[in-house]
Amino acid sequence: MWDFSFVIPAFFILLILFAFYFSLPRLKIRRNLFFVQIVAVELMTITLDILASLADNDPFSYPLFFVHFLNSAFFILFFIRFYLFFLFTISLLNINLRNSIPLQVLTVLPMALGIFATIASFGTGWIYYIDESGYNSGVYNAYIHIFLFIYIIYSFMAVFMFGRHRRRRERFWMLVYNLILLVGVILRILLPRLLLLDTFCLMAILVIYLAFENPEFYLDVGGTVFNSQAFRDLIEETRGKSQQRLFGVVMHNYYELRDIYGSHQTDEGVRMIAGFLVENFYKYSIFYYRKGRFIILGDSGMDFERMSALISERFTRPWRSGNAELYMDACFITMELGEEIVSPDDVFNTIVLAFNKSDSRNIRMPYFVTSNELIQTRRETLVKRSLEYAVENDRMEVYLQPLIDASTGKLIGAEALSRVRDMDGKIIPPGEFIPIAERSGRINELGEQVLDKACAFFREHDLKALGLKWINVNLSPIQFMRSDLTDRLEAILKKYELGPECIHLEITEESMVDDGFFQKQMQTILEKGFKFVLDDYGTGYSNLTRLKKCPFINIKLDMSLVWDYFESPDDILPTMIKAFKSMNFTITAEGIEGQEMAEAMKRIGCDYLQGYYYSKPIPVDEFVQKYRK
Ligand code: C2E
Ligand code: MG
Ligand code: MG
Repeated sequence: MWDFSFVIPAFFILLILFAFYFSLPRLKIRRNLFFVQIVAVELMTITLDILASLADNDPFSYPLFFVHFLNSAFFILFFIRFYLFFLFTISLLNINLRNSIPLQVLTVLPMALGIFATIASFGTGWIYYIDESGYNSGVYNAYIHIFLFIYIIYSFMAVFMFGRHRRRRERFWMLVYNLILLVGVILRILLPRLLLLDTFCLMAILVIYLAFENPEFYLDVGGTVFNSQAFRDLIEETRGKSQQRLFGVVMHNYYELRDIYGSHQTDEGVRMIAGFLVENFYKYSIFYYRKGRFIILGDSGMDFERMSALISERFTRPWRSGNAELYMDACFITMELGEEIVSPDDVFNTIVLAFNKSDSRNIRMPYFVTSNELIQTRRETLVKRSLEYAVENDRMEVYLQPLIDASTGKLIGAEALSRVRDMDGKIIPPGEFIPIAERSGRINELGEQVLDKACAFFREHDLKALGLKWINVNLSPIQFMRSDLTDRLEAILKKYELGPECIHLEITEESMVDDGFFQKQMQTILEKGFKFVLDDYGTGYSNLTRLKKCPFINIKLDMSLVWDYFESPDDILPTMIKAFKSMNFTITAEGIEGQEMAEAMKRIGCDYLQGYYYSKPIPVDEFVQKYRK
């Protein structure tokens, strides 16, 4: 006799789980689909298990084909179930078998063989047969577990091979539910009459639910809309596969709203907006991305105009809840997601930028994000990552560009220019990474590393043989603002036992905005013996009276000024240079690209020349080799 008392509670527990799962919004991603399939198949398996047991206990009270039908349907689901568990595991690991036919065959084969053997049992009795004595196990019945073992082994292999990128906790629970399945199969072999496997499948499903499939993991705003993790996972899975459209709604002046209405009321406002969006756009997936920002993701049929008209209209009226009345405004962004999507981060970064832009524009017209912007933010992310890596791992490189004494035509100094490489080893120009480093504050470490490397170079080489007297190091305005700058500079020089005279600090006019602080800072650094050079003169807005107060030793004319003069000579630049010289500044001309240019600059009184005509910035070793002669 089959004892199916074990499986009845399992059936009801699963039913509750299923009902709960379906009461909440679910994301349309692969693993959710597999989970639903697992639960559905398990429910059917249990049902058939009970029915088949009833029939097998008393086979002659039913038509024979019906008993056959129940038994074979049971066995078929029996195999499908383990295949689904396996598919679920690999979807958790982001493994897609779509591209590999051999792997597809290998993974479908055990299930296919099992189903084939079940159907063949009608004639052959391989798995089971029904005769005068009733239901009997077939000759191969004992072997059907092999197919289940194969799926469990596949799953373990997948977790061990591809689970490294997952969090430890996730990996752990993946192993746990697969172990539960394994124990279930073993017990089924040892105690076949107890129908224990269903209980173990239920346990595995519970683990999956608690560790991975609880819909609340993906929900926000009281469970009405999805959260940003959901957005990330959905984009990760669908990127490049289909054309999608994105409509973003951002509450205008979110922080101001919080100030006016308080956080409780503002959260209520967020809830009302979420409710409104869900009600009107239930066809699409709606996400909340913190700080009053919503993302609506839909297919290419999404009508931006209709949506913005509908939502704008709603925002013209106050939002009421209980006794609260909120006046809110919103801005919109629209975006097409096509093949250019490489990672969810691309989309995220672009959206956040666009949200900020559209919020600050303060108009209701949707801000259309172009694919150009996407490519730009991706580049920025790449630069950011490379910069972080370079600074963290001391991989930033210093290139040197010679400064030539105009009177002798010989090397006299060099400018240290930093270089960062991307993941492929290609150089990223400083014009790209310096502004990013300044925004993130990394410029402080980067600047110090440049100085450190310049000092190391100074220490290691025979500079007399090269004719090198000093090295110019660029100092960003961000670095210049630090009150402990002097100590930090001194510490680096001390490390190499160098005096401050060998380093010239280049600053731009940007550093001179706060006059009081600027004077004070400069004074402290000068007292320690450092020298200052004014970089990129002609691009900012300094005037001569102001420069008079500043003890620079050298002024570098920006190449735009130099090239301008060379194109159409006039009296302005020579007069300016004369004035500078009367103020005791020496002059460097940047951007010298030819001999005539060099001659012209020398003629009007430039003391030093820098430019591609002499050399581009080159790696330190190359520099030494070039000038050793
Ligand atoms: P900068 O300080 O004005 O440096 C001179 C820039 O002009 C260098 O660009 C150099 O390669 C370029 N240059 C020199 N001669 C010629 C020429 O004849 N023709 C042309 N077309 N260009 C020439 P680079 O190395 O790309 O650096 C750009 C800017 O990035 C620098 O301008 C500087 O402001 C900043 N930078 C570079 N390294 C550092 C650093 O370590 N710290 C800080 N704060 N800024 C840096
Ligand atoms: Mg410079
Ligand atoms: Mg310059």
